[in-house]
Amino acid sequence: MVRNPYASVSRSMTADPGNASPYPHLFAPLDLGFTSLRNRVLMGSMHTGLEDRKRDFPKLAAYFAERAEGGVALIVTGGFAPNFEGWLTPFASRLAWPWEARKHRQVTGAVHAHGARICLQLLHAGRYAYHPMAVAPSRIKSPITPFTPRELGARGVERTIDAYANAAKLARDGGYDGVEVMGSEGYLINQFLSARTNRRTDRWGGDTASRMRFAVEIVRRVREACGPDFIIVYRLSMLELVPDGSDWNEVVQQARAIEAAGATIINTGIGWHESRVPTIATSVPRAAFAGVTAKLRPHVSLPLVATNRINMPDVAERILARGDVDMVSMARPLLADPQWVAKARAGRPEAINTCIACNQACLDHVFQRRTASCLVNPRACAETELNYLPTTTRKRIAVVGAGPAGLACATIAAQRGHDVVLFERDARIGGQFNLARIIPGKEEFGETLRWFQHRIVETGVQLRLSTDATPELLSGFDEVVLATGVVPRRVDFAGHDHPRVVGYLDVLHGRVVPGRRVAIVGAGGIGFDVAEFLVQTAPSPTLDVEEWMREWGVDPAFESAGGLRPPRVSPPQREVWLLQRSPGRPGARLGKTTGWIHRATLKHKGVRMIGGVEYVAVDDAGFHVRVDGQPQVLPVDHVVVCAGQEPLRALRAPLEAAGCRVHLVGGADVAAELDAKRAIAQASRLAAAL
Ligand code: NAP
Ligand code: SF4
Repeated sequence: MVRNPYASVSRSMTADPGNASPYPHLFAPLDLGFTSLRNRVLMGSMHTGLEDRKRDFPKLAAYFAERAEGGVALIVTGGFAPNFEGWLTPFASRLAWPWEARKHRQVTGAVHAHGARICLQLLHAGRYAYHPMAVAPSRIKSPITPFTPRELGARGVERTIDAYANAAKLARDGGYDGVEVMGSEGYLINQFLSARTNRRTDRWGGDTASRMRFAVEIVRRVREACGPDFIIVYRLSMLELVPDGSDWNEVVQQARAIEAAGATIINTGIGWHESRVPTIATSVPRAAFAGVTAKLRPHVSLPLVATNRINMPDVAERILARGDVDMVSMARPLLADPQWVAKARAGRPEAINTCIACNQACLDHVFQRRTASCLVNPRACAETELNYLPTTTRKRIAVVGAGPAGLACATIAAQRGHDVVLFERDARIGGQFNLARIIPGKEEFGETLRWFQHRIVETGVQLRLSTDATPELLSGFDEVVLATGVVPRRVDFAGHDHPRVVGYLDVLHGRVVPGRRVAIVGAGGIGFDVAEFLVQTAPSPTLDVEEWMREWGVDPAFESAGGLRPPRVSPPQREVWLLQRSPGRPGARLGKTTGWIHRATLKHKGVRMIGGVEYVAVDDAGFHVRVDGQPQVLPVDHVVVCAGQEPLRALRAPLEAAGCRVHLVGGADVAAELDAKRAIAQASRLAAAL
């Protein structure tokens, strides 16, 4: 093994004796030789959209400063291209000129003021670029972008390597402690490494050693340009999850060469963006891929970082305590809670606002070219504008409904110093999240309710469960917030009152156990959820890594090319038809980064997803429908109605008539767009303004 001359690292994972945290391995410092990290938490790179415009840099600085103040040891920024060809999208983030480096000082200064270190990520999109200047090792279009890249000539390759070294030097000038070289996820470096995208016959293509020359040269020249006391994190593609991806021998060969070239730390990359295996969605078991990083441990001596779906301190501590890895990377969990590290250190995991891996406000936003935020923390990336400041006028506030919107509004208003009473008709808090949490693969939604339960106590909200809020009960409050949610929409086709026709609430609450053959009316978010509920076997594969890997075709030994093997899907519990009236593919409106996972899951389970359906009638023979004008009878035992929602706001008129100040939030306001992201954000902004 070739030792890295720059990383004279003390990796010994002895728990910090002076640290009373229940997570001693998480809080042991990490000595990198020339510098030291205060604990084992790396804030992983995530593009937020704030990197792209100079005017947003104060917001970017505030966003990172809060995470640094919260105790993170090392932050990695979102990706910056080393030249314009490497842009993800036209005019996206780039670091290529001295004047571009200067503006970074406000970011690095803000982070250093709180004792954390920060690396800038160098990311060249290669053929994943969303613009016509895209370049790649070979002229092979990616399946996820519309542009065919130009093949880099030999001089172009050299110029690109120089651009990396130049950008790293500029990062140093901008005050960064280092860079992360993005060598995974299918971006340019990864495209050179893989025979699937590199068909070159010159010294940059051919056998494994030639294909990895580009990556190695970049690390070598970055080290040369920036000197020995500069952190180089290399994000190594350890499990590609694409056909013809690297096998394990190639991964080890790359890791050793990267270490010898002068990297300080190796971070883990899992999957390419075009992989058809989910890698970070909520249905991926926690820490499902930590074993990949651990498998590399015997082969290199520099610190290794485990990543993907590590969202709570006990998970991180377990991985670190085994001694297989040296740090854990988290990006989204720190969007969800900037105080994650401080709370873990204080032994208060129940106070952590857990990332539920929904992607709805972070990655989905980025893919829509909107600024990232967080479903459970709308302040993420809005730190300069959304603040929950103490009130100067204490009011009596009633919040009706303890679903996500009501919970957010009540707890923030109480945190600000208002006197808040939260009324809930049910015997427990949670609203729609109580349904979400019982869907296989959405168990994480329960964490948000655990957090809100903690916040109710912490902020002093007076919770009145099993209480119908009447106008009389609500009189005397200065403000009334109606977060009363929704009722399921009724359908009106013939036989809608037949005993075979049931609502999704009956099914999810267990009041009706559907038969072997079921049709679902409505293929929105709830229709998909109900379909997954009906076909999945218990327990949910999300709770069993081996079963999950079997279902998605991941080689549990991580040996095969791309780490793939044929999936073995357990048979569905039921035969299901998922129907919608609109023409086209059901599920087209689901989240950008997760919709394909829901569609694939149902396809694997043999669910028939049909658009353009006309509902005719339900009778003892089954469900009579017309598809493309052709009559059919679906021989089903039950028809489950998931036809959307209507707002529930009957209290509004009498309260307004009585002169109350009434506010509507969440589904009670706009049921058509009922979704938790909108509901929590709207309720939080209202609470900030009350
Ligand atoms: P939705 O997304 O609005 O879908 C309602 C479905 O019912 C549509 O497929 C619609 O399709 C159908 N429909 C509407 N009116 C109908 C009628 N009169 N008769 C028969 N069918 C009718 O509502 P949802 O599924 O209840 O979801 C509500 C919200 O929850 C979503 O907006 C989503 O944000 C959120 N959610 C998301 C997820 C997720 O992303 N996985 C999961 C759960 C909930 P046609 O009109 O074409 O028939
Ligand atoms: Fe996590 Fe969802 Fe927030 Fe993204 S939006 S950080 S996935 S909770």
